[in-house]
Amino acid sequence: MLHEIIMLQPKESLSIFEKSRYLDARRVFCLGSPRAQEEDTALVLAILFMSLTTAVSVPSDQIFQYIEDHQNEYVQRLKDWVAIESDSNDPAKRHLVINMMLLAEERIRKLGGTVEMVDLDMQKLPNGNKISLPPVILANIAKDPKKPTVCFYGHMDVQPAKIEDGWSTEPYILTEKNGNLYGRGASDDKGQVLAVLNAIEALQKHELPVNVKILLEGMEEVGSIGLNTLVEQRNSTFFSDVDYIVVTDSAWLSNKPGITYGTRGNCYFFVEVECAKRDLHSGGFGGILHEAMNDLIFLLNTLIDYSGHILIPGIYEAVAPLTEKEKKLYEGIEYDLDQIMDKYGIKEFRNKTKVYVTFIFILVIEFSFTGFRLLSWNNK
Ligand SMILES: [Zn+2]
Repeated sequence: MLHEIIMLQPKESLSIFEKSRYLDARRVFCLGSPRAQEEDTALVLAILFMSLTTAVSVPSDQIFQYIEDHQNEYVQRLKDWVAIESDSNDPAKRHLVINMMLLAEERIRKLGGTVEMVDLDMQKLPNGNKISLPPVILANIAKDPKKPTVCFYGHMDVQPAKIEDGWSTEPYILTEKNGNLYGRGASDDKGQVLAVLNAIEALQKHELPVNVKILLEGMEEVGSIGLNTLVEQRNSTFFSDVDYIVVTDSAWLSNKPGITYGTRGNCYFFVEVECAKRDLHSGGFGGILHEAMNDLIFLLNTLIDYSGHILIPGIYEAVAPLTEKEKKLYEGIEYDLDQIMDKYGIKEFRNKTKVYVTFIFILVIEFSFTGFRLLSWNNK
């Protein structure tokens, strides 16, 4: 398990990446941007590419200059991508997700990549109907045995967004406000995917220092339907020569460009409590039997206490304690608790210090209940 998060300025990062070569091969990096600054993200990615190999010496100043000079183009590309309402939640918009996959395919081909559009099985909807899943993109750019191979993962779909949801700008029109770019998907995940492709384009003006593989899907926001099977099927073929994986679908802790290596995983459980085989009227049955909702609340209440401490026996034994080295690292991280509290209207964190909030945010187990669904027997 990894225990380090590096926050860095673009120019400082070369030396830190230098060290990364001594870490295990098959490293997973996560890269994201909270404000979709295309130039910054492309820059960090270009540095990442360059840092993974010594096989090619790249004139970094020229590459950085190229990225800076093309910022307007990058923003225009993002604008075109954000304009597509590729909402994977809504079956009526499935064709837009597919259009989005085709746009990404076109961009990769323009960079000289070979693209396979892999068809997945059909998706079964709750009403029993079946609809097509968007294809998954598996692409290759360059294949030089002397260079390491980096595989980028990203997704082209977005969550639903409407102006009534509280957006201050039209979600599907990329809008600049105070130097930041706002639009659905701009920072999750269209902006990051474009940044990868922009970084490749910039490096190709000289020489791409790594071989690139790209895995792009269109169903991430609804649980990556179909992706697991595909990844397993291609494990010994497409993915067999991958040295590094970069997940371009996470966030920076502050406005400083950052690379995360190591994230928490997820484990979901669905609990269903049943008390009778049909709906019962509270006037006739209230108080004379065990009610499902009461029982469910009781059960859930045994899992976590009022302070947020998880009550499942032995669960904290799997968590490595905070070391002095980590503590020092987190002290220096640009992560402003006051700013976050102000932004989200949070009154207080469970832990008062930045070090412990960061520690829990990054490395420790958390426990959340994410939703209740009351099923009436009539529509079950
Ligand atoms: Zn995402």
